Amino acid sequence: WRLMPNILAIPSMAVLKDQNEQLRHAQECLEQANHNLEQKVKQRTESLQHLANTDQLTQVKNRRAILDSLETEFKRMERHPNNLSLLMLDIDHFKAVNDEYGHLEGDKVLVNVAQIITKTCRQTDAVGRYGGEEFLIMLPETSVQDAKELAERIRIAIKGCETKSESPLTCSIGVSSLTKGKTILDLIKNADDRVYKAKDLGRNQVVYSD
Ligand code: GH3
Ligand code: MG
Ligand code: MG
Repeated sequence: WRLMPNILAIPSMAVLKDQNEQLRHAQECLEQANHNLEQKVKQRTESLQHLANTDQLTQVKNRRAILDSLETEFKRMERHPNNLSLLMLDIDHFKAVNDEYGHLEGDKVLVNVAQIITKTCRQTDAVGRYGGEEFLIMLPETSVQDAKELAERIRIAIKGCETKSESPLTCSIGVSSLTKGKTILDLIKNADDRVYKAKDLGRNQVVYSD
């Protein structure tokens, strides 16, 4: 008699089956919810990463991101040696655009220039805003000759773009290519020096030697 309550408390097979089914269903719901949450976190992480790496005005890479890309490419080249070229582009007399037409118009010009560069480059190239009106364009697996040709195409495309001004928008471009023993900093410095040289030579040109 003392055992009777325990015996009576044992659920029937049907109840156990039902409870098992409910548990299985609850587990499925939890797994689905977990999956949805993981997807959301993944999407949020990706959009945060995009924000952190993108120049808000022009939507090309920001300075840190383009330097990161260069660093990554440089490391990859240690394993798979290849050509690597770099363009530094500086808009000529950009201050005059701001002074004459206002900062907002200047911003539009920067967006336009970024779009022209991106359209002219290949998918595998990386475009970044290095500073105010300066852009860096990384060209993996590109010889200095091909880099020069691309720089010319960009220069001409920018010169042909529509602006409020009667005189065309021009830019100066420095080209550099990685050679043995050079670092990324050397590559950037060479391109930068060549931009200065292009300015000295009268702007609106591509320079690829010292
Ligand atoms: P140079 O041909 O020698 O390069 O002359 P420059 O006028 O282009 O160069 P300078 O360095 O004298 O002026 C660059 C100007 O770019 C000054 C600055 O106000 C402007 N600038 C920098 N960032 C932005 C931006 O985000 N938006 C706008 N509208 N202007 C900017
Ligand atoms: Mg500048
Ligand atoms: Mg300038």
